[in-house]
Amino acid sequence: MSEKSNVPFAQLEAIDGVRIAQVPFKELTTLHVGGTPLATVFCTSRQSVCEVVSLLDDAKVPLLIVGGGSNLLVADGSLPLVAVVLDFDEVDIRFLTNGTQATVVAEAGAVWDEVVEISVQAGLGGIECLSGIPGSAGATPVQNVGAYGAEIADVLTRVELFDRRTKKREWVDASSLEMAYRYSNLKFTGRAVVLAVELQLETSGLSAPLRFGELARVLGAEGGQRMPVATVREAVVGLRRGKGMVYDEADHDTWSAGSFFTNPILEQAQAEKVRQFDETMPYFELGDGTVKLSAAWLIDHAGFKKGYPGHGAAMLSTKHTLALTNRGAATAADIKALAEDIQRGVEQAFGVHLEPEPVWVF
Ligand SMILES: Cc1cc2nc3c(=O)[nH]c(=O)nc-3n(C[C@H](O)[C@H](O)[C@H](O)COP(=O)(O)OP(=O)(O)OC[C@H]3O[C@@H](n4cnc5c(N)ncnc54)[C@H](O)[C@@H]3O)c2cc1C
Repeated sequence: MSEKSNVPFAQLEAIDGVRIAQVPFKELTTLHVGGTPLATVFCTSRQSVCEVVSLLDDAKVPLLIVGGGSNLLVADGSLPLVAVVLDFDEVDIRFLTNGTQATVVAEAGAVWDEVVEISVQAGLGGIECLSGIPGSAGATPVQNVGAYGAEIADVLTRVELFDRRTKKREWVDASSLEMAYRYSNLKFTGRAVVLAVELQLETSGLSAPLRFGELARVLGAEGGQRMPVATVREAVVGLRRGKGMVYDEADHDTWSAGSFFTNPILEQAQAEKVRQFDETMPYFELGDGTVKLSAAWLIDHAGFKKGYPGHGAAMLSTKHTLALTNRGAATAADIKALAEDIQRGVEQAFGVHLEPEPVWVF
């Protein structure tokens, strides 16, 4: 019996708000690679995604939740799984009676940067540094997205989850996700589907205190200063564009999954050994006995410069050493091979293993 025949097509089609198609991952992801799933199920409501996931789990059909596909590297060829695409995107702002705060509730399929834009237009501060990050609102807690000194954990209060084990749909406190640097207990586990996120933002029209030196410099501000939210958003998007970190369908330099590796965090003693290779390497003591090194610096100093040609049409971005890009015709295997070359090269040069940031489905 083929894997496809296990998919309960008739029952899926009977669910209100569901559309079934067969769209390959190269059309669902910003890397534009990846093969064809057994089916691509578009869910247009929170309720429909709960029913779809429940049905597929009962039928023991593997599934992958897909938002904007901007943090996914999926294998080529025919894939024995169903892609479940979140296609519901309401955003609701409620000003609290305390006069200083507002709650933003965004459905999982909302485009994250539109959530930021709407919030900034309403004068709300707290997520302006997360401008220009591609993908969906629902994925932001999955790896605790972060940029320019901010992360979603700073403002996320609750998430509505569909728990795949208990089949319960409920709002839970953000602390239950154990968010850390580019991590939550949702990442790699697929244990629950995020249906909506709730953020608490400030109504002052000012940004969160600026924590990132480069951003503060561009704004002519001091570290820790607050600036008008729209000004900060514009500066962040400008900085990101200069690094190829704003996804643009027409620009192959942005056909990536953003930063492909996380910055390694090492025990101090190990980090000191690594630093002996080169005293000039960036070295951030985190205050808990660990040290964060810069993956971009390690890659660059291991000999993989911007624009490094990889396999087939896979290449390092010409603007950012951390982004592996598809120049148009790359396959998932090409991207994977380039990633593995870099891991090997950095390991040989510095004895440090780089962990990929995107979710790999191979
Ligand atoms: C040009 C570029 C720049 C980027 N810059 C940054 C950056 O500055 N900071 C940063 O942190 N990231 C960055 N990223 C990575 C990426 O944009 C984020 O991780 C984003 O949150 C992924 O959202 P998505 O909807 O595209 O997720 P997808 O790629 O669709 O999914 C990623 C993972 O999350 C799971 N998932 C998605 N939605 C849900 C849901 N609702 N419930 C449960 N699981 C879900 C998927 O199953 C998958 O495992 C960048 C990517 C690109 C292409």
